[in-house]
Amino acid sequence: MRIGVLALQGAVTEHIQMLAALDTEAVPIRLPSELKGLDALVIPGGESTTISKLLTDYQLLQPTRDLATQGFPIFGTCAGLVLLAKKVSNLDREVIGVMNIEVKRNAFGRQVDSFETELNVPVLGNGAFHGIFIRAPIIQKVGPNVEILCQLNGKPVAVRQGKLLGCAFHPELTLDLRFHRYFLDLVTGDTVAKSNH
Ligand code: GLN
Repeated sequence: MRIGVLALQGAVTEHIQMLAALDTEAVPIRLPSELKGLDALVIPGGESTTISKLLTDYQLLQPTRDLATQGFPIFGTCAGLVLLAKKVSNLDREVIGVMNIEVKRNAFGRQVDSFETELNVPVLGNGAFHGIFIRAPIIQKVGPNVEILCQLNGKPVAVRQGKLLGCAFHPELTLDLRFHRYFLDLVTGDTVAKSNH
């Protein structure tokens, strides 16, 4: 498997290291031609405004959107989740816009805009997942075909729609490989097969 990590801005190296720890080849992606031959793409956290601008400047926005609508697996964390959402209530830039969710950026308020907490993510099995939230978005609405994988205070913070996966927190800043392994299972089809039984 060969996984691309969008390398325009943000926590790129951390995702590459996570995937390497799972014996998976991960390569940084900066150009549309580099999308060829990939099995999946990770969109890291960072600043969604900046990443959106660079996606447009580097002519990556439409090719990424086209791939997503054809069933290509994409995992977005934090700003990456913002970029995958069909609707972002407080962003006036174009996004990839492929997941049936509405999000609000920087939604946890100034006092607590960065925090860490233990999360229950049933699809990852037993054992809390350490959630690192850094000026994280909130998922305000969830539409058809979106599975909520994890909630915090009654709000979804991790979701899946087919092979599109998004979370408001940063698994790549932990040592817990379970979220990335879950994504790789989605890429190979193992997760879908499991959920059908
Ligand atoms: N606040 C950032 C944004 O809206 C996301 C922060 C992050 O990715 N850690 O783009």
